[in-house]
Amino acid sequence: MPAFLFLRTAAFAGSRNHKADSLSVCGRFGQKEACNMDKAKEECGVFGILDPEGGSVAHSIYYGLTALQHRGQEACGIVTSDTSGPVGNYHCRKNAGLVSEVFHENSLESLPGNLGIGHVRYSTTGGSRPENAQPLAISYIKGTLALAHNGNLVNTADLKWELVRNGAVFHTTTDSEVIAFYLARERVHTQTIQEAVLATARKLSGSYALVIMSPQKLIGLRDPYGLKPLCLGKRGQAYILASESCALSAVDAEFIRDVEPGEMVILSEKGIESNRSLQTGRCAHCIFEYIYFARLDSRLDGINVYDARIAAGRALARSHPIAADLVTGVPESGLPAAKGFALESGIPFGFAFYKNSYIGRTFIKPSQAERESGVHLKLSVLAATVKGKRIVLVDDSIVRGTTMKNLVQMLKDAGASEVHVRISSPPFRHPCYFGTDVPSEEELIANRLSMDGICRMLGADSLGYLDLKALPEMVKGLPICSGCFDNNYPMEIPEPKPFPFWCGE
Ligand code: AMP
Repeated sequence: MPAFLFLRTAAFAGSRNHKADSLSVCGRFGQKEACNMDKAKEECGVFGILDPEGGSVAHSIYYGLTALQHRGQEACGIVTSDTSGPVGNYHCRKNAGLVSEVFHENSLESLPGNLGIGHVRYSTTGGSRPENAQPLAISYIKGTLALAHNGNLVNTADLKWELVRNGAVFHTTTDSEVIAFYLARERVHTQTIQEAVLATARKLSGSYALVIMSPQKLIGLRDPYGLKPLCLGKRGQAYILASESCALSAVDAEFIRDVEPGEMVILSEKGIESNRSLQTGRCAHCIFEYIYFARLDSRLDGINVYDARIAAGRALARSHPIAADLVTGVPESGLPAAKGFALESGIPFGFAFYKNSYIGRTFIKPSQAERESGVHLKLSVLAATVKGKRIVLVDDSIVRGTTMKNLVQMLKDAGASEVHVRISSPPFRHPCYFGTDVPSEEELIANRLSMDGICRMLGADSLGYLDLKALPEMVKGLPICSGCFDNNYPMEIPEPKPFPFWCGE
């Protein structure tokens, strides 16, 4: 284990049941994020563009956000301004809903300017207040400042306490607003926005991929561990920052490179500048991006997501072989690993489910009953393909077990003679402090049941998870954070503290 990884102790893991504590404080039991005091959920996508030649950027942001829609379907927003226009003049539109629901031709025309940023947001119950939609745009000493954030700070409560003691007021419950506040405060004393960004970043602990827009500049910043992805692209003279490379392809831009962990890139009419003073040389990229979050056609930190999922499927076939007639995957994120399993095992790969793409992700449905019906609405079985066959069913992860239990049953109802479940990640057992939405530890099936118990609960004929040791191999040795699987986190997580003045919704 690298020296910098912190192993959460059992004692701490116990005290970490603050999720329940914070919920009971708020009286919102059953809505796990209602008042998760140190954690405003941020599983999001960010996009930014500066066109020094003066073209309007709103449409490009729209397409970029559409390509990043898988990272957040709850709310989205765009802020634009013109680098040659009056300082402090900005245009902002944000709302709950998908990119295609919030923005239309007219609304894009009302967002003029050659500089802009956008955001798609995923949050669970407590974070879904309309004012939490991003980007966050504020007026400050130098005019306009806007920011879009993907990630989750672990020291938000401390930062907020410091600010409110000095008279700050907040309009949102996001940690992103805390960042904006510090930026504005630092900017009073610094010569440049980039100095203010660095001074602010030194106070932050946790994960962040940020795009920041000042009157003249577009800035990208990645936390020193590189937990969340951010890349840089170019189209003609225009510079682009995006959470994933798939968003660059969507706007016809060329991928230049990933923003490095701990790197700040400053894009302006002068070109690209880079500052690496936050770098520590200790990286920990979120493995769950490769397992589930990121789009299949993206390349993150030099690794194709597709290749990583194929490699996971291959490793799974080696560690958990089985005699079968057909390998299939749970659409969409289980399919590449299923393909990898098939390639390695020599068992034919095929589709066993039809996915209705117009239904949202079942995982985010609030109640168990709704989640169960969500699975049936979303997926139906191709009965003729599975009848009488021994099936290997591959998915990227099991969280509560709802999806898999339903799918095994559906395959058996359709006449499959055996169903062998294979999961292309290790058992999901621990919280994520950096932005991945994980139910409470008690809800995670891998904490509630033994391997045999899970297999029986799923109604499967056998069950195999990817070995923890296979994770680095999946991403060709890239340094990773796999805390949700092994309880090792790249930084110390402060004990949770209540926020000073609000209580969720
Ligand atoms: P469950 O039905 O609760 O076992 O959830 C497992 C399903 O949720 C799998 O098909 C995963 O692809 C998906 N999933 C895993 N983690 C997440 C997450 N953090 N957010 C949304 N979906 C997820």
